[in-house]
Amino acid sequence: MPLQIPPTKLPRVGTTIFTVMSQLAAEHGAVNLGQGFPDFAVPQRLVDELDAAMRAGHNQYAPMTGVPVLRQAIAGKALRCYGAQVDPDSEVTVTSGATEAIFNAIHAVVRPGEEVVVLDPAYDCYEPAIDLAGARAVHVPLDPLTFAVDWDRVRSAITPKTRLLMVNSPHNPSGAMFSADDMRALADLLRGTGILLISDEVYEHIVFDGRRHESVLRWPELRERAFVVSSFGKTYHCTGWKIGYAIAPAALTAEFRKVHQYNVFCTFAPAQHAFAAMIRDEPEHDEQLGAFYQAKRDRFRGQLLGTRLRPLPVPGGYFQLVDYSAVSDLPDHEFAKWLTVEKGVAAIPLSPFYESPPPGQRLARLCFAKNEATLDAAIERLREL
Ligand code: PMP
Ligand code: GLN
Repeated sequence: MPLQIPPTKLPRVGTTIFTVMSQLAAEHGAVNLGQGFPDFAVPQRLVDELDAAMRAGHNQYAPMTGVPVLRQAIAGKALRCYGAQVDPDSEVTVTSGATEAIFNAIHAVVRPGEEVVVLDPAYDCYEPAIDLAGARAVHVPLDPLTFAVDWDRVRSAITPKTRLLMVNSPHNPSGAMFSADDMRALADLLRGTGILLISDEVYEHIVFDGRRHESVLRWPELRERAFVVSSFGKTYHCTGWKIGYAIAPAALTAEFRKVHQYNVFCTFAPAQHAFAAMIRDEPEHDEQLGAFYQAKRDRFRGQLLGTRLRPLPVPGGYFQLVDYSAVSDLPDHEFAKWLTVEKGVAAIPLSPFYESPPPGQRLARLCFAKNEATLDAAIERLREL
């Protein structure tokens, strides 16, 4: 009898839209504003510190939880940025990117048959991790125009089976940010329940126009039930290094580490030393990141006004949503392909971030974490639409 491969555990998973669009961009020589990654250099100091760490012999397994100097630096950053007292030994775990942290947190606390509430459009790695845990993602749509949360809708999605709620601010793909009122509404919603929280804050330092990032770490009532996840890939322009972390109360961290320990055990050691040095010695890097990206956002938006694409507001993050309805009536998948293949600019459609995309939505995501020359080349092509 030939071997019977069992049916897939993830029937709805294919290749991610980010990979699909990057490959299409490469095949057609398109300017790639699709997959979110910077095309400029990482800080030279970070490269020097990585080099120094390898030369100093930090090339063997790191401690499972992360190297102590980095965990201490992360705790120091939580205090400096958000006034949070975080214990580096029992509350911080260094992971292989935010993706691993999100996977671990879900698997640490979610059981088969339970429900996890996600807000659509939601980042693509959430639902497969929920599915693999044998749980069900319950999708609550954000406002289709402003991407604000309707907390009453979230409340009505909660059932006795709800174990976890996942939030993301600044938000990918829209850039929308939670206000202090959102945080209060979130606290009201969860108070007295056993529902835990994953707060995906990978764009925590990329915030604009003087707005304050409402980290869950600022809100003690939320923090006691939360995994707060971030990624150095975004903060230090090195998405390919795949290092992130999770901060959670000791009891949740203990469960999180049980998964982390047998998922990857530990994370690339030399880079952990390099990030520790950056956080300790160059705190201004993350303090200046908002202004750095705001200048890119403003320049790019100004240029987009000379095209038939209509840019939506971008409070945070490094993605610009554009309404393309004046250019095309194609559904967003087809529009993104057409734009890449025929017009030479790769974008990301929004529908893959939804269980049910809003009917008639004509939005595409463009990444502006790029050099001026890249953005100029894209704009030249977009002007022809
Ligand atoms: N969450 C969001 C909202 C993201 O945009 C990303 C990456 N772009 C991640 C998580 C994953 O981060 P990492 O690359 O560190 O795994
Ligand atoms: N997070 C990146 C984005 O939103 C993509 C990361 C990936 O390719 N998995 O574009």
